[in-house]
Amino acid sequence: MRLQVIGDPVLHSKSPLLHGAMLAALGLDVPYTAHVVRRGELPEYLAWARDNGVTGFNATMPHKEDLIPLLDGIDPAARTIGAVNTVCLRDGNWVGFNTDGAGAVAALEAGLGLDPAGLTVTLIGAGGAAKAVALALADAGAERVFVCNRTPERAAALCALDGRGRLIPAAFDPDTLGRRAAQSRLLVNCTNLGMAGCPGQFEGFSFLDALPPDAGVFDLIYHPAETELLAQARRRGLNTLNGLPMLVNQAVLALEHFLNRPLNRRAMAEAATAALNQI
Ligand code: NAP
Repeated sequence: MRLQVIGDPVLHSKSPLLHGAMLAALGLDVPYTAHVVRRGELPEYLAWARDNGVTGFNATMPHKEDLIPLLDGIDPAARTIGAVNTVCLRDGNWVGFNTDGAGAVAALEAGLGLDPAGLTVTLIGAGGAAKAVALALADAGAERVFVCNRTPERAAALCALDGRGRLIPAAFDPDTLGRRAAQSRLLVNCTNLGMAGCPGQFEGFSFLDALPPDAGVFDLIYHPAETELLAQARRRGLNTLNGLPMLVNQAVLALEHFLNRPLNRRAMAEAATAALNQI
């Protein structure tokens, strides 16, 4: 048995550290390594992996969507999202999953004590991560998720993926954000705004003033550990959560798929978090 994370770039990935710590905590001597695979090289990689004992891998950019037509089976949630981040060899078949959304919901429950059931949420962004998180929130029972995005067509396309009408497209301007925030118990940033090395920032943070005082603000970004959005929310007395617990929880769920058995999720998350805290 051998596990990998593939992508380009991938050598910065924290997955080997997280999975290495969890596998060590389980007492399993299974190697998990990062492997550069360039766009267009997936068919060769899948053949190589099968011949070289790779029984599972995580995928990061630019492969999450490109893998879909190459796999033998896709988990229904991953099919709806149109992207996989976890692929396992099961009875000789490559099967794809997406653990980002469920990882985000687990992080919310553990980090902010928020059960999405019945919640109204303002979610900013409509890219790949937003898609996974919005659909997972709707699956977990969120009543309404306002999807606010700079490009309105992408928000509309994302919301159309949910047949239950729980995802509602909205604009990205400060007035709309404020109006939606006033109705929400949770605000989630799924854009790159505030990420280290990424140009661009929110024009202002007055929409945070509209949130109820017991609201949570969750930023998927983990570098820096506290984005300007989270700092502004903290100064307003709001509960905040960065993207590290989501990163950890999506890895825990991926490892359950790789090993094809349930794990003690809390113990696994603790082992992975401890490894992160050591760097
Ligand atoms: P993506 O597919 O490229 O989507 C980027 C999103 O950001 C889009 O909605 C885009 O809006 C918006 N955006 C970018 N620049 C903007 C600007 N200047 N003004 C307004 N909106 C802007 O990226 P992704 O893969 O979804 O990742 C999004 C973020 O989530 C990244 O920071 C990533 O690190 C983080 N993430 C974290 C985890 C975790 O485990 N914690 C997992 C996955 C992703 P348009 O549609 O208008 O372009």
